[in-house]
Amino acid sequence: MPRALVLEQIRKLSLRDIDLPQEVGPHDVRIKIHTVGICGSDVHYYTHGRIGPFVVNAPMVLGHEAAGVVVETGKDVTHLKAGDRVCMEPGIPDANSRASRLGLYNIDPAVTFWATPPVHGVLTPHVVHPANYTYKLPDRVSFAEGAMVEPFAVGMQAAQKAKIAPGDTAVVTGAGPIGIMVAIAALAGGCARVIVADFAQPKLDIAAQYQGILPINIGKRDLAEEVKQLTEGWGADVVFECSGSPKAWETLLDLPRPGGAVVAVGLPVEPVGLDISTASTKEIRFETVFRYAHQYDRAIALMGSGRVDLKPLITETFPFEESVAAFDRAAEGRPGDVKLQITL
Ligand SMILES: [Zn+2]
Repeated sequence: MPRALVLEQIRKLSLRDIDLPQEVGPHDVRIKIHTVGICGSDVHYYTHGRIGPFVVNAPMVLGHEAAGVVVETGKDVTHLKAGDRVCMEPGIPDANSRASRLGLYNIDPAVTFWATPPVHGVLTPHVVHPANYTYKLPDRVSFAEGAMVEPFAVGMQAAQKAKIAPGDTAVVTGAGPIGIMVAIAALAGGCARVIVADFAQPKLDIAAQYQGILPINIGKRDLAEEVKQLTEGWGADVVFECSGSPKAWETLLDLPRPGGAVVAVGLPVEPVGLDISTASTKEIRFETVFRYAHQYDRAIALMGSGRVDLKPLITETFPFEESVAAFDRAAEGRPGDVKLQITL
């Protein structure tokens, strides 16, 4: 039996042997896992035992942001071979579902997603995965960066949904890992500048390393006022809400320009109120984001070209044997921590 990092129940993790399916079907590959990033969702299952309707009722292996090496291919797999360095999309939809046939496979109600109960994740030495959801990494993209493709794909989805035009000004509220990656994707998608707002100065300092990102500490300065000043009173073309804080929504509609867009990326735990009259008066366009579809190849292309460098976002790396300590560190939520990773 393989070893894995298992969430036994809320607040209880163990590194132990567990029975996991290892059979390689004709369209599957077996991957030796190299690096796994710790995601906010992994930590939330650890500390809260649930996310919305998804409840941890049985022991579950954590981890879904992974890169590794192909060690075995199913008999019908043609585009990958043993030795290929890869990263994987953690969500597997039903290919014949109505959502998948529309190209919206991320919102297929039948999708199974690593480390979303009751589906096991990949903090374990080997995993079997459909080859069609496994992507080759360019030589210049390391395993650590390969494990960043998953969260970056969320930023790519947000940037695409925003329909950015070259030269746009964007605002990102919330400078967590996803907020920063949304800002990076928005710049890659053509934004001239992205204002990133947060209370935590260490997070803003990390975001500000990227050319084009303007950090604003909302503990000290008024965001709407700053956006007005920077845009001569007009407002931002696109606003990405990435904090998931209901409070952010109270003043969010002060930020977009008339005819601008608001993209909801963060998921507030409670319903939020929204001033529809103000939104209508400005004809605000609303978009929502749930994970991503068709983003991995373009995310990898941007990283492979050198246009996007996510290495500054990797704060610290832990060995597999110290996985529990790594999760306890992540649960502390240190303001200077962006992405913690585990290597196997
Ligand atoms: Zn994630």
